[in-house]
Amino acid sequence: MDEKLLENAFQAIISAQRILIISHIRPDGDAVGSLIGLGLSLNAKGKSVQMVSTDGVPAIFSHLPGNNQIQKKARGDFDLTIVVDCSDLSRAGDILHGKPIPDINIDHHPTNTNFAKINLVDQNAVATAEILAQYLEIFGFPITTQVAEALLFGMITDTLGFRTANMTPKALKIAAVLMEHGGNLPVLYQKGLLDKSFTAARYWGAGLSNLEKEGRIIWTSLSLEERKAVGYKGRDDAELVNFLSTIEETDIVIIFIEQDDGFVKVSWRSQPAFDVSLVALFFGGGGHAAAAGATIKGDLKKIQTDVIAKTKAILGLQETFA
Ligand code: 5GP
Ligand code: MN
Repeated sequence: MDEKLLENAFQAIISAQRILIISHIRPDGDAVGSLIGLGLSLNAKGKSVQMVSTDGVPAIFSHLPGNNQIQKKARGDFDLTIVVDCSDLSRAGDILHGKPIPDINIDHHPTNTNFAKINLVDQNAVATAEILAQYLEIFGFPITTQVAEALLFGMITDTLGFRTANMTPKALKIAAVLMEHGGNLPVLYQKGLLDKSFTAARYWGAGLSNLEKEGRIIWTSLSLEERKAVGYKGRDDAELVNFLSTIEETDIVIIFIEQDDGFVKVSWRSQPAFDVSLVALFFGGGGHAAAAGATIKGDLKKIQTDVIAKTKAILGLQETFA
């Protein structure tokens, strides 16, 4: 990372008193962990901090200390706005609508649009939480046990337990430092990646029974009706996509989750030879080479057909399926 940029970010934070921190809509573990990790550290540094997530905090993250400080809306004025784990401004929700451009953008998505005054984007980092852990140490900001827990949780969940293809020795070293600061790796791993509710397991059942395969692409869908039938409360796939990507006979996994607002959430996962962020970008989304997503308006079945065709075309898989 450019030292001048880091120095500018440090000065901006030091001279601000009221700081707004925002993470992305439909927050995942890295979004929530980064928000709480940075927020609690700046709090401990004596700053007045508001942590905001338009969609609130999903119940699966309620074990993280500090999660109750996250609000859905920003209140009052701020001297500094920091956006974490968002590849573009639309990911921040409508909080910044009509406001000046944010001051600092801290992220690890290769599809990041550098939308802030100071853009700290490191696509070699496995999680935004990894970048934050590094900066907090460089800046000399407090890494309390709660800060360490939140950041370690972000790293564990974004790497599916340190096993994604983008893992680095540096990330493991940073995780070790977070453990030294009190992050409980086994507990965070269990809560972030293994624990599942009974309704989530039944929801998986619906997704598994809809599973289809053509060549080395597999896909499934979760309709609103199926979600209601099992009583699953979230609007996500209960991490089914990550289980599907452990199926051996596949390079690409796609999951379609019908939403109640006329949209369909699509998630792609791929083996290292394929960059699914290109397909997600085509549909107005973004992400990483191996894990990307988009939210598309329209009918579930039609979107499924279009997305599968485009995925094959963009990734050059057409011949395989002829
Ligand atoms: P997931 O499929 O688990 O929602 O997300 C996989 C990756 O793609 C994450 O890094 C996430 O931030 C990104 N992603 C998911 N949905 C969207 C979207 O609608 N827009 C953008 N820009 N990125 C997304
Ligand atoms: Mn992330």
